[in-house]
Amino acid sequence: MALIVQKFGGTSVGTVERIRNVARRVAKWKAAGHDVVVVPSAMAGETNRLIALAKEIQPNPDPRELDVVASTGEQVSIGLLSMALMELGVRAKSYTGWQVKFLTDSAYTRARIVSIDEERIRADLKQGCVVVVAGFQGVDQAGNITTLGRGGSDTSAVALAAALKADECQIYTDVDGVYTTDPRIVPGARRLRTITFEEMLEMASVGSKVLQIRSVEFAGKYRVPTRVLSSLTDPLLPVETEARSGTLITFEEDPHMAMEKAVISGVAAQRDEAKITVHSVPDKPGIAYAILGPIADAHIEVDVIVQNVSHDGMTDLSFTVARADLAKALKLLREQVQPHIQCRDVTGEERIAKISIVGMGMRSHAGIAAKMFRTLAEEGINIEMISTSEIKITVVVDEKYTELAVRVLHKAFELEQE
Ligand code: ASP
Ligand code: MG
Repeated sequence: MALIVQKFGGTSVGTVERIRNVARRVAKWKAAGHDVVVVPSAMAGETNRLIALAKEIQPNPDPRELDVVASTGEQVSIGLLSMALMELGVRAKSYTGWQVKFLTDSAYTRARIVSIDEERIRADLKQGCVVVVAGFQGVDQAGNITTLGRGGSDTSAVALAAALKADECQIYTDVDGVYTTDPRIVPGARRLRTITFEEMLEMASVGSKVLQIRSVEFAGKYRVPTRVLSSLTDPLLPVETEARSGTLITFEEDPHMAMEKAVISGVAAQRDEAKITVHSVPDKPGIAYAILGPIADAHIEVDVIVQNVSHDGMTDLSFTVARADLAKALKLLREQVQPHIQCRDVTGEERIAKISIVGMGMRSHAGIAAKMFRTLAEEGINIEMISTSEIKITVVVDEKYTELAVRVLHKAFELEQE
């Protein structure tokens, strides 16, 4: 018998019929002798609808009140799912985030979990109940309702699994696992049976939207065995089959990780980026700070940064930001930074994409970067920027090459073969 936390995304609970299917699936695990805690999201589209309502009243909604509104979607799901379980003869009980409680900081709309009081859940499990807990929401020290940021119920589920020391956190979603790349770009993309948490973190940071990045951080920090699997299969699929489906996030110290692993696990593309170049700045101490300090102060996240070799004491500095932040960053640089650093110009480039290859095997294999660059060169794709981590190489290219770059890299690293 195991203790399992199961998270179901918005699509999986999108209609009454789907909620019934979730209940059938949960009841099946319970009947197999497991203790089950379920964390559903709001019904598909519901959180968007609630936020839109708030914006109709207040174009820039008050963050505290926005969380009061946005958190209600999950409350509906937990009640409905508990009822659906009862209809199947399963004892079930629902709790909101503040009833549990999920204590968070006070950063409305993007709060972080501080602690979880899991006593009540344990007591209910002992009584034979399935416990249904609202994802995405918590409460701060002062008793204010908070939410964890879009996609936050992944994090609720993994954090709860950590607090309960669950045997597995199962994230049911509308894809059946983590793929070597986006199957819409490469039809031969393959589902990975396992991925290390480090790889998953890198994939999430470069545009893979399977899990909220914070949930991956939690899984890593507390070593929560987390599995991404499909909620679209037959809900009565045998438990043994379902238990082995999807993609399991593993940790390097796991024994089966010692087996030969592919050098590269995945290729990811991210299009919602933009590049900023500050031209001809004096190459002297303090310049990078003078440029990037105000950007950080404005809470604009910077990703790839490149400073060119200087000529005659002058250099160019380029970096990427989220495309949505481009206008704000340009305005700030032109109005507040340019007058002080005497650069020649500040330009923005919207049509870029970031292409990354990720893999633990990179650490022990030389020549991976060279192979990536050769593959792109053979297609005439110009690399505008490069950045690396221990297990990731990212290049910035013209957006129009996104699909091509992903396809040729997927092929070059033989990701279609197991
Ligand atoms: N309902 C929230 C959202 O749509 C949280 C979640 O689905 O994970 O962002
Ligand atoms: Mg989600």
